[in-house]
Amino acid sequence: MIDACGRKIDYVRISITDRCNLRCVYCMPENGVQSMQHSDILTYEEIMRLVRLMTQLGIRHVRITGGEPMARRGCLDLVDRIHRIPGIETIAMTTNGLLLSGCVSWAREAGLDAINVSLDTLNPETYRKMARGGDVRRVLAVIDEALELGMRVKINAVPVRGLNDKDLCELAALAWDRDICVRFIELMPVGCGAELQPIPSDEVRRMMEEAFGPAQEDVGKHGFGPAKYIRPRGFTGSIGLISPMSHEFCGECNRVRLTADGYLKLCLNHTAGLDLRAMMRGGADDDALLEALSGAIARKPRRHGFEEDIGDREVRRMNEIGG
Ligand code: SAM
Ligand code: SF4
Repeated sequence: MIDACGRKIDYVRISITDRCNLRCVYCMPENGVQSMQHSDILTYEEIMRLVRLMTQLGIRHVRITGGEPMARRGCLDLVDRIHRIPGIETIAMTTNGLLLSGCVSWAREAGLDAINVSLDTLNPETYRKMARGGDVRRVLAVIDEALELGMRVKINAVPVRGLNDKDLCELAALAWDRDICVRFIELMPVGCGAELQPIPSDEVRRMMEEAFGPAQEDVGKHGFGPAKYIRPRGFTGSIGLISPMSHEFCGECNRVRLTADGYLKLCLNHTAGLDLRAMMRGGADDDALLEALSGAIARKPRRHGFEEDIGDREVRRMNEIGG
């Protein structure tokens, strides 16, 4: 559907859990957090009902995220069920990759078209420092298996000053001989991210051009989303720069988010939205849900306003929102 700002909204990111097997420094506190109660998170039936209704409003693309989506039992069955819903054209997952180890082909059979894998460094020690656990070799094996099985693969890396600055070019070089996008996402001042130092995208781009030479803008191939892509000479894949802070992309935003506890979030940085769980558990019928959904989506905020006093700023962490 088209919102009040004329944007076509056809993409929903669904967080299915706030729990995670890692504790990345920019996302979750080291000692963990109070997790949502199981009864607070949407059941798979409730998620399926909402996705079916959203297709009536023009949602065509779904991304499953978390927390770590693979940490919730039955995640791949949910993928399988969503990809069969008429009207859904693509289903993707954002994951740290570790729990996909050993079940990539199952994920492919379940209809998963694409994975975005979080990976901030190839250095095993820095990986363990930033993710506070995990084995980078397992993540790399998952990436290569997914590519072999024909999935589209993107890597999400968050450059953090003083942590992985020295590792970014080596990470980007994964796209030298692989048809993948290595995307550098500017650190956002949300949750634990507010305590760390970002490296702006323009600086990352300069690093890439110093290492790999002048790069062409790579347009057209990458579908929907807020990244700008460059392809240094000789690269099979490409490098993405996602700059929510330095180059606001709100004018092209095509997405809404569903939190694990059933809240429709209209913008990453605003609390504005709709408590769909309360409506469903209060007995709302499909017509009432559709009317509420379309009314809410129409009111999607014009801008994230990370650096402004917006009045309804999000205070939840990324593991609760889904990134
Ligand atoms: N656990 C999965 C993963 O890590 O891919 C999915 C959830 S995670 C919250 C989704 C994305 O949010 C990840 O790519 C992560 O790098 C990103 N993220 C988390 N905190 C962030 C922050 N403060 N700034 C920018 N990106 C962040
Ligand atoms: Fe977990 Fe993803 Fe957050 Fe890292 S970024 S702590 S993997 S939810």
